[in-house]
Amino acid sequence: MTMTTLQACPECEDEVRISQSVRLNEIIDCAGCRSELEIVALAPTVLALAPEVEEDWGE
Ligand SMILES: [Zn+2]
Repeated sequence: MTMTTLQACPECEDEVRISQSVRLNEIIDCAGCRSELEIVALAPTVLALAPEVEEDWGE
């Protein structure tokens, strides 16, 4: 059985569904604002806006 919890997105306060098997530092996309949210704590789950990482690998 897979349980999910709902957390408010720190950016838009939309509800973000989080699987119970989520791991620390996992990145989840908010469906509402498309922000990347990082799991910064578990039990209780705490979401934080993930720092924007530009995928710039150079030349
Ligand atoms: Zn959001």
